[in-house]
Amino acid sequence: MHVCVLGAGTMGHGIAQVSAMGGHDVVLRDIEADLVEDGIESIRANLQKGVDIGKVSEAEMAATLDRIEGETAIETAVSGSDLVVEAIPEDIELKRETFETVESHVARDTVLATNTSSLSVTEIADAVEEPGRVLGLHFFNPPHIMELVEVVVAEQTTDETREFGEAFVEGIDRTAVTVTDFPGFASSRLGITLGVEAIRMVQQGVASVEDIDAAMELGYNHPMGPLELGDVVGLDVRLDVLEYLREELGERFRPPQLLKQKVRAGKLGRKTGEGFYVWEDGEKVGVSGGDAR
Ligand code: NAD
Repeated sequence: MHVCVLGAGTMGHGIAQVSAMGGHDVVLRDIEADLVEDGIESIRANLQKGVDIGKVSEAEMAATLDRIEGETAIETAVSGSDLVVEAIPEDIELKRETFETVESHVARDTVLATNTSSLSVTEIADAVEEPGRVLGLHFFNPPHIMELVEVVVAEQTTDETREFGEAFVEGIDRTAVTVTDFPGFASSRLGITLGVEAIRMVQQGVASVEDIDAAMELGYNHPMGPLELGDVVGLDVRLDVLEYLREELGERFRPPQLLKQKVRAGKLGRKTGEGFYVWEDGEKVGVSGGDAR
């Protein structure tokens, strides 16, 4: 199958990787050549790590990289695709415009999937002429490690499109959970509730960043605490999701001031080197100055 992934950022490169590892030919598209190159470099680094720990063979690494092509022109990128997955920024207008453009360059039966964490898939689908072909494929970060993919069924999604999505997910060795399109789906709504409460606790001085995370890791067996997870996801992404959920579901999702301050200061988490923690080469090396106690 031919898969096109739009956006080579945090999620896009990982989605391209798992699709290629599942045997599909993949085109990875971003708006600038160096962003595409960075995405492919990240895939190479992920695979190399896999080889180093014996989870991926050298041959599998080479074959996976062989199946991935980079592209910047959207028409060329999507042409001939059976499936287009968008992983561009969490902005409803951008996603709607992008799918409108994509639809004019693909076949009638090409499925269009959005990786949105929380936006209305129904509203995104409404931008195209054949909305029955649109669904959500919500991957988790990082896609090459995380097993879950939410298959989000919009108001317009046909049974055929849903079945296509579920089969695609199972085919790339992931587990599909099918959910109805509702703000925050099944996972983001619950996950962000924990994240936002953790930030409020830092603001209130209940415990240190590290202790709040340790409470969830050691007390609840979470592999990573909610503040560290926020850094990994990106605090800007967290803020966008919260603002949307607040609008849709009410004040309990009001973003805490501390989160807004971090984003305004460009402290977006792992990708900028600082959020609630300080990061070097993708690894956590300390706690951000103002948050330690
Ligand atoms: P990101 O900012 O890391 O990457 C987005 C990429 O899209 C950037 O490289 C940007 O240059 C590119 N881009 C912008 N406009 C584009 C266009 N028109 N065509 C192609 N590329 C374009 O963002 P991300 O964290 O990868 O998030 C992408 C989507 O995935 C969002 O909808 C987000 O809500 C969702 N998501 C994110 C996470 C996460 O943990 N970060 C998890 C699940 C879902």
